[in-house]
Amino acid sequence: MTLFILRYGELFLKGGNRPFFERCLLHNVKRVMGPLGGRVTRLHGRVEVELPEGHAEEARDRLGHVFGLTSFSRVTPVKPDLDALMAAAAAEARAAVAAWSGASPRTFKVETRRSDKRFPMKSPDISRAVGAAVGEAIALPADLRRPDLLVEVEIGSQRTFVTTGRSPGPGGLPVGSAGPVQLLLSGGIDSPVAGYLLLKRGCTIRPITFESPPYTGEDARTKVVDLCSRLARYAGAMTLRIVRFTEVQLEIQRRCPPRLAVVLYRRMMLRAAELAARAEGALALATGDSLAQVASQTLENLACIGEVACLPVLRPLVTFDKAETIDLARRVGTYDISVRPHVDCCSLFVPDHPETGATSDAVIEAEARLGDVQALAQQMLDTSDLVQISDPYANP
Ligand code: ATP
Ligand code: MG
Repeated sequence: MTLFILRYGELFLKGGNRPFFERCLLHNVKRVMGPLGGRVTRLHGRVEVELPEGHAEEARDRLGHVFGLTSFSRVTPVKPDLDALMAAAAAEARAAVAAWSGASPRTFKVETRRSDKRFPMKSPDISRAVGAAVGEAIALPADLRRPDLLVEVEIGSQRTFVTTGRSPGPGGLPVGSAGPVQLLLSGGIDSPVAGYLLLKRGCTIRPITFESPPYTGEDARTKVVDLCSRLARYAGAMTLRIVRFTEVQLEIQRRCPPRLAVVLYRRMMLRAAELAARAEGALALATGDSLAQVASQTLENLACIGEVACLPVLRPLVTFDKAETIDLARRVGTYDISVRPHVDCCSLFVPDHPETGATSDAVIEAEARLGDVQALAQQMLDTSDLVQISDPYANP
């Protein structure tokens, strides 16, 4: 059996809501650990996962995708007895030194957390005794301030263990604790990162994408599906809505001033996304917009685009530099998918000099030539396709 202890931090701040956040977190840990045969239980302020042997590496990868976790450790369970703790800590420390990557550790420290006050010694005394055993085993001096190797001892009423390594968790809040958001997802670099950040704050995402066949190809769709699959590691299974945008785009191109094309495309997208959100109970819309990155993202244009939606439009990347977004996209694992070449519907029929200061009056006048824009948005939605994105962690 392999045992992991998972830690969560920010949840403590949530006062009366804490049990709710803990339930969400537990549910999400079960999602990724259950398929590996993991048994998940809640200890006091911790989550414990018991796994059959042979899944430790896979478990680490999966736990790194569970928002709300601040860190996790593979631990060695020990009976709550000083001699047993000393022996186990010495063995763990020896193994940690042997497996150390890079220059060998030069110092160590033992830290004890004793939540079971029935244990007859106080934490500092336990640390001292265990520290003596560890020092002898690995022949290194202790350094209480900046140790290379940290040996942790935890004595809880349900579980006592020692461990030598903490892997960082992804932080944030458990997915599902905030609420559903309709995410306008293109095949670009930005919107998947926006999705990641929303998931990190506890939202669930309902991706919606717009394509213009035959101008956009199958590769554009595959890209968006692959991006969703990548995000599904954090989110679990989801449904992608694919909206056919060709006819509306052609109408805009035929009837409206070219300078306004992109703003008009965006307004139609937002209208359709809001209808989808209302139909599915999403509480907000979200985009990958970043201020002034492209012409459609000046403050004036963002305002003009946002006007068509009543639901809040969340823009997690609004203040990000492109380099910051790319850096995050690499870490999230969406970058390599996003940079695959493809034709995006918004790069079709785009003028050389797009408007950077669109006004409500100008776009409303332009849209009057399209007829009932709300009905057009509803039509797009009614003819859209749904694609099920499965949970990549549903199987071992
Ligand atoms: P991205 O890299 O996310 O495509 P971008 O910097 O290329 O962003 P734009 O292409 O102008 O910027 O798009 C701004 C936002 O509008 C996107 O982040 C996305 O939320 C939404 N969007 C653009 N095109 C589409 C599309 N085809 N389907 C769904 N949403 C889209
Ligand atoms: Mg784009």
